[in-house]
Amino acid sequence: MANSEDIFKKIISHAKEYGFVFPSSEIYDGLSAVYDYGQNGVELKNNIKNYWWASMVRMNENIVGLDAAILMHPKTWKASGHVDAFSDPLIDNKDSKKRYRADNLIEEYMGKISAKINKEVVKAARRFGDAFNEETYRTTNERVMGYQSKIDAINTNMVKAIAESDMDGLRQIIIDAEIACPISGSKNWTEVRQFNLMFSTEMGSVSSDSSTIYLRPETAQGIFVNFLNVQKTSRLKVPFGIAQIGKAFRNEIVARQFIFRLKEFEQMEMQYFVKPGEQMKWFEEWKEKRLAWYIGLGLPKEKLRFHAHENLAHYADAAEDIEFDFPMGFREIEGIHSRTDFDLGAHESVSGKKLQYFDSEANENYTPYVVETSMGLDRMVLAVLSHSYTEETLEDGSSRVVMKIPPQLAPIKAAFFPLVKKDGLPEIAREIIDNLKLDFNCLYEEKDTIGKRYRRQDAVGTPFCVTIDHDTLNDQQVTIRERDSMEQKRVPIKELGAIIGKAVDIKSLFV
Ligand code: ATP
Repeated sequence: MANSEDIFKKIISHAKEYGFVFPSSEIYDGLSAVYDYGQNGVELKNNIKNYWWASMVRMNENIVGLDAAILMHPKTWKASGHVDAFSDPLIDNKDSKKRYRADNLIEEYMGKISAKINKEVVKAARRFGDAFNEETYRTTNERVMGYQSKIDAINTNMVKAIAESDMDGLRQIIIDAEIACPISGSKNWTEVRQFNLMFSTEMGSVSSDSSTIYLRPETAQGIFVNFLNVQKTSRLKVPFGIAQIGKAFRNEIVARQFIFRLKEFEQMEMQYFVKPGEQMKWFEEWKEKRLAWYIGLGLPKEKLRFHAHENLAHYADAAEDIEFDFPMGFREIEGIHSRTDFDLGAHESVSGKKLQYFDSEANENYTPYVVETSMGLDRMVLAVLSHSYTEETLEDGSSRVVMKIPPQLAPIKAAFFPLVKKDGLPEIAREIIDNLKLDFNCLYEEKDTIGKRYRRQDAVGTPFCVTIDHDTLNDQQVTIRERDSMEQKRVPIKELGAIIGKAVDIKSLFV
């Protein structure tokens, strides 16, 4: 069986070969951690957005949408804390000139020790056979215990150094552990310095009147600064939510892993404004609702889990991530955060403008607390692609790659194949498409054998293929073939809309 790294590589090349994701400006050798979505990727993305938007804005009377600008007044980022504290600790190797995140270097080092422990465990399991008890072995074997206490000590020091912004302390861990640069093998390190993750640019045409502005590193602040505009014009009462889908930018230095960690990405965020004191109730409720959103789509429960933050950000009183089991393991796909009144309070004090809500029932003014759900659209695309990618051996011994994308998200809903390019069959195919194309994304294909056409659509994840043959001329029926079961049925043309609609309509996810 292929290992997860191989599978990940296959998914990346499949995504490119079938028009889902291309490296940005590829003819110039690409731009690190920036990707473009191709003809199928953009459809998949739009379908995910529609499902999210429907579940937030359409399904909830008290949640409305917003589309704030990417560029915002620079004071926004001072108030939010991003100017002062949105940074990664970086270190350069003087010989290879490569730059690393200091905490990542340390984590990788701990990972290597952990791998040694696992090796010992595997060896011992083989030696002791059925009598082997892993927990006892891990807590009594001296060598393993030595490794484990080394990991624990390093981890404690690292967490402390990060919490105290102690860059010298972080560097000292690297020096003491004798961590070497993976490229040059040298231990010749610079100081560790904080590197802000925001992209900045200049506003204004002449340098004298220019001022530094930032590309937003999260969409949330556009919601906070518009909180009263929306509340007053919508007349919504607390609790209510504002939802937004939009681009965010982070100058991630260690940005590998395909579309998991990008410099330009898209977030789907919803800020829920609640009465102070009620935040934990809403936090729990949104956690459950958000998990159900993934499961409702058919992503398996066992590939999803909550992960509580060990160190809460200074403004949060609760924070958990939803993690998905990507090919590289469980990683964050969405954060659910109880952000207290930190953001509204900070904007109020920096702007000098009141951002309070008048609660007419309680007859009092207060700054609402905020529970946010914040997910990465690109990570969701990766979750869907990696979950859907399936290699199958068929009964006749041949094989196929099929993307088992939930039909509601599939880029193309149905492909139409005239059996031959003549005898009026292409015309019938085109007529069927003309009747359906405003309801579903349809594709016309007349090249190659039907078998090859099926394979191409399997690889894209098209749930239905419809073949128009000579019998169609007489009986007005076509053959519809379902992607996963590969079952074929003869159905009247006039029933196609209903059959396809039943399977691909996002409405089916809400009943
Ligand atoms: P990570 O710990 O992985 O860097 P984060 O905790 O900084 O993520 P948040 O600031 O909570 O992420 O952002 C909310 C969501 O936005 C994340 O759950 C993730 O899905 C997405 N996201 C954040 N950074 C990136 C990125 N560089 N590329 C793609 N998606 C991202």
